[in-house]
Amino acid sequence: MSTSRRDFLGAGAAAAAGLLVGSTLEAQRAAPVVARAQLAGRPTVMGSGNGIRGVARAYDQVMRGTDPLDAIIAGVNIQELDPEDQSVGLGGLPNEEGVVQLDASCMHGPSKRAGAVGCLEDIATPSLVAKAVMDYTDHTLLVGKGAKKFALAMGFREQNLLTEKSRQDWLRWKSRLNKDDFWLDHDDDVKVKFTSGTINMNAVNAAGDLSSVTTTSGYSWKLDGRLGDSPIPGAGQYCDNTVGAAGSTGRGEACIKVCGAFHIVEQMRNGATPEQAVMRTMERMVAMTEPRLLDEKGRPRFGLQFYALAKDGRTAAATLYEGARYAVCDDKGPRLLDCAYMYRRADMPRGAW
Ligand code: ASP
Repeated sequence: MSTSRRDFLGAGAAAAAGLLVGSTLEAQRAAPVVARAQLAGRPTVMGSGNGIRGVARAYDQVMRGTDPLDAIIAGVNIQELDPEDQSVGLGGLPNEEGVVQLDASCMHGPSKRAGAVGCLEDIATPSLVAKAVMDYTDHTLLVGKGAKKFALAMGFREQNLLTEKSRQDWLRWKSRLNKDDFWLDHDDDVKVKFTSGTINMNAVNAAGDLSSVTTTSGYSWKLDGRLGDSPIPGAGQYCDNTVGAAGSTGRGEACIKVCGAFHIVEQMRNGATPEQAVMRTMERMVAMTEPRLLDEKGRPRFGLQFYALAKDGRTAAATLYEGARYAVCDDKGPRLLDCAYMYRRADMPRGAW
């Protein structure tokens, strides 16, 4: 909306008269937020579909009065500590050198704080280390050796995160890379391919306080030192206590370029519903995708999901290709809901991942 010259002069005159023009503008900006705040009071936890056990635990904790960030971190801890889950924490698939490197970030709406860790080794719960960065330092993001040193100083337990299954998968991937190298290929029928996986979780409690967290082992076989979107507040997750929370799973490189989670929350701030917000962000992401990653019809050859939770408890998620579901828990209990999508599953380019 443009400001007319008359409004502008009026504002100037008011300022000259010593009136609080700033607060008038602020009041205008805050208006939709106030309306949303009146709706606050519907506790909800939501996030990626693999967090279905976690949303139930987190919702239970939120209802017992646990802080929303502590509750969702307890939710994602289930996956982080599960050695069978090869996409997060303990048992996560390693990088190309066979080393498990974990990333996580979180934001606490009421106190407007954020914390993150990247390329963290030997500590199973990067979400808790990210929160410790937030709680005990004046920094937002610690990576690599420094992140581990910090975690050990905070009392986190060091452990080998590479399970036997993940080590075997890595060895198979490595041996099949090059027929002429000194690693013998084993022709068993176990298919090892590139994998990804991450948990994003967001919560709002009865007071309308929000939080968000995302945790991952990132892409399997990634380069040493690679960070995706998960440890980046504004990309892998974001939360603004006056508006809502959001997060992402899938190709982090694509999410980072559109500041995915931040973009979703900003859309909601400007009045979009959660579904409009995730779909607009998806459209923006496709528009920002380099041609080498698009098929002849302009469709990305990769997967990406966005998740949104409004302050009033409304939720939505979007996926590029039809078929993904997201997890929600509220007074109706834990369940999986369909994500909105951009393209039908049948139109997924061959070789897309
Ligand atoms: N977003 C994660 C990353 O880029 C991966 C994933 O969600 O699959 O590291």
